[in-house]
Amino acid sequence: MRIDILTLFPDMCLTVLGESIIGRAREAGLVEINCHNIRDYTLSKHGSVDDAPYGGGMGMIMQAQPIYDCFAAVCSQTTQRPHLVYTSPQGKVFNQEKAVELAKYENLAILCGHYEGVDERVIEEIVDEEISVGDYVLTGGELPALIIADCVARMLPGVLPNEDAFMLESHYSSLLEHPQYTRPFEWRGRQVPDVLISGHHANIEKWQREESLKRTFERRPDLLEKADLTKKDLEYLETLK
Ligand code: SAM
Repeated sequence: MRIDILTLFPDMCLTVLGESIIGRAREAGLVEINCHNIRDYTLSKHGSVDDAPYGGGMGMIMQAQPIYDCFAAVCSQTTQRPHLVYTSPQGKVFNQEKAVELAKYENLAILCGHYEGVDERVIEEIVDEEISVGDYVLTGGELPALIIADCVARMLPGVLPNEDAFMLESHYSSLLEHPQYTRPFEWRGRQVPDVLISGHHANIEKWQREESLKRTFERRPDLLEKADLTKKDLEYLETLK
């Protein structure tokens, strides 16, 4: 998969994308992620990429032309036109389901807005969908783009040491993950639950499933509506009410 990030601050993204699991995945060629500086595409003699809003108001608006030309340059490098996401607090809120959907594209591009946002006409012209990372406003789309790229890339084959690991995690199946522990067995008087050192796999699985159901019930009961629950799960959930 190839992900292209269109931004006025490519270094901000490259620093993060060079680290840890995603950095190693890029080095190993498991995912290609490029960051493009929208400013490189301006036709303005002064290198400007934004201007005051028509109708007045605060702040500056990113102009359509440099964004359009930047995306055209990305398209010329890929065999398929990338699916273009615009990060926006006005978009649909990002979740694991959306990440799974985006991970299916061979070419994905993410446009980061900045200042007061982007000229609406370029959104209408080239953007396929708008995605928000939550109901709050950030200074720019770089952090949202990194969230989307990280979440999508970690699901690609070979990126995680155990390829199925993400399927067992919170949100993948609309349940929160059970609590996790590591050595030492006892820390500040708190012990790891006995069942986890019993070696009895069926009991461990049962405990993990029940803890996962319990956490979801207590913290995010809204998720249970979408979860794939067995008769046993429903019986256990009844005991929590
Ligand atoms: N004036 C815009 C509005 O009220 O909808 C907000 C602009 S915001 C200050 C600047 C840029 O940050 C946006 O164009 C967008 O790319 C990004 N951004 C801010 N908050 C975001 C969020 N919650 N999710 C995704 N992108 C966000």
